[in-house]
Amino acid sequence: MKYIGAHVSASGGVENAPINAHEIGATAFALFTKNQRQWKVAPLTKDSISRFKKNCELYRYQPFQILPHDSYLINLGHPEKEGLDKSREAFIDEMQRCEQLGLDRLNFHPGSSLGKISDEACLKLIAESVNIALDKTKGVIAVIENTSGQGSNLGFTFEQLKLIIDNVEDKTRVGVCIDTCHAYTAGYDIKTEKGFKDTFTKFNSIIGFKYLKGMHINDSKKELATRVDRHDSLGKGFLGIDIFKMIMGDSRFDNIPLILETPDETIWKEEISLLKSFAK
Ligand SMILES: [Zn+2]
Ligand SMILES: [Zn+2]
Repeated sequence: MKYIGAHVSASGGVENAPINAHEIGATAFALFTKNQRQWKVAPLTKDSISRFKKNCELYRYQPFQILPHDSYLINLGHPEKEGLDKSREAFIDEMQRCEQLGLDRLNFHPGSSLGKISDEACLKLIAESVNIALDKTKGVIAVIENTSGQGSNLGFTFEQLKLIIDNVEDKTRVGVCIDTCHAYTAGYDIKTEKGFKDTFTKFNSIIGFKYLKGMHINDSKKELATRVDRHDSLGKGFLGIDIFKMIMGDSRFDNIPLILETPDETIWKEEISLLKSFAK
């Protein structure tokens, strides 16, 4: 079964996210559990937590259909102590918020070396940050998102993602989310049938589908291997529409949240129904 949705607004409180998802016909959704551009925010209230759970029950969203995303400020591979400590503290808070909401996974961007340390040292710092957060929480899987490799951001190759996983102690609580736009601009030519097949064969042998805990379904405004992250609406960018048909027709992408992060939210409802039609 395919579970399809979008990264919906949680403005006014996390409890509004399932309502917003339901309104666009989504069977999955992503959300920020706090303002993604602020370091510190007030804790979730008991009322907000219980309304969130109630709304998820009402609209039939189970934890495996929900993919919360962490703040853009966090850099778990920060080369300097102050930035690293601050990021680790904020990430633990994000994991705890997911735990309070009864969610089972948190999607995060791996991190950036800022050009100050080696890629390998940065990837190991990221894994260490994940270990610390897993130690302080229960039941939430840390889901690493592949990046387009813009600037000094890491996690743009399957090998880099694998290196992080290898250094995480509890393998049952680490996973990955593959963003189609990021994969393409990082250099994986997934738009053709052969490229798609080869890329996911490679993904399976390097990382393994058992680690796949979500997908971000985006077209790309930038060409293959440009290492630039610019999402586009489905079928409007360089990826075209065929890749989305391939994903929807492939059982390896069953039972995980498939999330649109496309720029025009006024057409999310149509994009979701289009994807659903491909899944039949
Ligand atoms: Zn992301
Ligand atoms: Zn993404």
